[in-house]
Amino acid sequence: MKSYLQNKVKETVGEKNFLINEKEKTPYASGWRTEPGDCEFVVLPNSLLEMWKVLKLCIENDKYILMQAANTSLTGGSTPNGKYNKGLVIINTTKLQTIIPIKNGSQVLAFPGSTLYDLEKKVKPFNRAPHSEIGSSCIGASVVGGVCNNSGGALIKRGPAYTELSLFASVNKSGKLELHNKLGVELGNNPEEILRNLDNQNFDEKQIKNSNSKASSTDYSNIIKDIDANSPARYNADNKRLYDASGCAGKLAVFAVRLDTFEKENNERTFYYSTNNPHDLTRLRKKILTEISELPIYAEYMHSEAYEVSKKYGKDAFYLIYYLGTSSMPFFYKTKSKLENFFRKSNFFSHRTLDLILNIIVSFLPNQMPKLYNKLNKKYPHHLILKCDQGIYNQVLKISKAIFDKDNNNFVVTTSKESKKLTLNRFVFAGASARCANLEDEANSELLPLDVALKRNDDNWYKDVADNAKDDIFKTLTVAHFFCLVFHREYVVKKGKNITKVKNKLLKWFDQIEAKYPAEHNVGHMYEADDNLKKFYQKLDPNNIFNPGIGKTSKTLVKKKN
Ligand code: FAD
Repeated sequence: MKSYLQNKVKETVGEKNFLINEKEKTPYASGWRTEPGDCEFVVLPNSLLEMWKVLKLCIENDKYILMQAANTSLTGGSTPNGKYNKGLVIINTTKLQTIIPIKNGSQVLAFPGSTLYDLEKKVKPFNRAPHSEIGSSCIGASVVGGVCNNSGGALIKRGPAYTELSLFASVNKSGKLELHNKLGVELGNNPEEILRNLDNQNFDEKQIKNSNSKASSTDYSNIIKDIDANSPARYNADNKRLYDASGCAGKLAVFAVRLDTFEKENNERTFYYSTNNPHDLTRLRKKILTEISELPIYAEYMHSEAYEVSKKYGKDAFYLIYYLGTSSMPFFYKTKSKLENFFRKSNFFSHRTLDLILNIIVSFLPNQMPKLYNKLNKKYPHHLILKCDQGIYNQVLKISKAIFDKDNNNFVVTTSKESKKLTLNRFVFAGASARCANLEDEANSELLPLDVALKRNDDNWYKDVADNAKDDIFKTLTVAHFFCLVFHREYVVKKGKNITKVKNKLLKWFDQIEAKYPAEHNVGHMYEADDNLKKFYQKLDPNNIFNPGIGKTSKTLVKKKN
């Protein structure tokens, strides 16, 4: 029997955008790496105004709210976790995909379901590029999900996703839903008028105000160039990146953000470095950051074990993207998630079945990586893919020749086809590492993926396991946004070892070396939020209605003050 609320929500968004049966809810209630949690129903509004109406109904009827975009979070931040003491509603924004270029394409207004992939296409005619490119851009990660998570990613010049200009709703201490227009665009005086005008793009350039507020991490190039600093360049709990929508992790409902775009680099060159001595890469990083005024575009580290695992277990994703393009990925992952759920629930198959089948199928396909790079991978443990604009190519070349001139190291200027393959092999790593844990006989099938930002002056970045955890680990797979010293260390734990104990040992070690975690994947339900992050969440959501329990905070409602 449907309740009053359910009927009203259905009336608002239409029957097909109201999902209440288990089968339909599961893809939204479960995450990339997390099991489904409790959820009363899922709603997919068709407009910003509908989103507002649904929010209002749910708040008035005493529900918890979980805002969700593309649901690519790796730490469970966009999905419910276990049980709640009252109903939780997921509002998924993927139907709200509008992107409006403003100020001649130098900025955009992005709706909550718009994707980084579409943003790139939208600003291309202005010869501009998005503020962010992350591993999940190709599988449909949203612009707003990135801002709410202060996602990082591969683009060195841009820093974490950040803006001070947004349009969002919060619930005040008395339990009333309020809309805050901080976009710097005059859209009207009451919520419905504001949202209707934005839905219909009913405003002109005169209504867009110049603002001193930041629409990207404009300070980041100075931060990253400060190589002697005794603190990380970026991490999720950094107070500098917590502002309204930025870093809110679903503690608000964000309707739109205003963001800077960037001049597009048109002449990209790619270097590939390999070495036995990690200090070669340290010297390269320091010299490029301090001796060349312009920053490179991209510098992704891959340990040889990570390269091998991507090559072996990411082959299907590699071939799909290489031949069909990134637009095929959302469909592929949705289908895979449905099949996984089918296998998980079945009595006849194990959690390994789907990965096993896919891996057997792709093993018949030819090796996807160029021979040269496979050879380099066998010879050297440490590798770096560096992309820069043609404008600084000669300077990078000079520094490279000075450091990579020995027998125990090597560098190559790649062709564009090689560059594409190397980058793709790096991109498919996140899925490949999970499959590795799932399929390797000596491994615990649950991966322990940790996301950590090292201090900018940490020259021991290559040490990847705490001494007291060495015996617990089957394989450490390391990739990094190297110039930011942001590391993704994916630990494949030995079968029979207790994952929580191993995790605690590693986190303790990160504390000892004064690293910060998480760096860019946000706390989700995997990490405990720092005190400053907890305070930020309490300020945004004093009643604890939105995304309760995030960052291992309380899952209980705070009593309203009338
Ligand atoms: P979701 O996962 O749906 O949501 C993210 C957070 O934002 C949640 O807390 C959610 O509650 C909140 N949220 C979403 N919409 C709203 C809204 N309208 N109002 C308020 N809160 C909202 N991350 C990186 O930083 N760098 C990487 O390189 C990277 N690579 C990845 C590679 C792969 C293969 C995968 C699967 C993930 C990767 N990620 C990476 C993690 C993830 O993709 C990013 O965090 C991404 O920004 C999340 O975007 P999303 O649209 O999926 O948001």
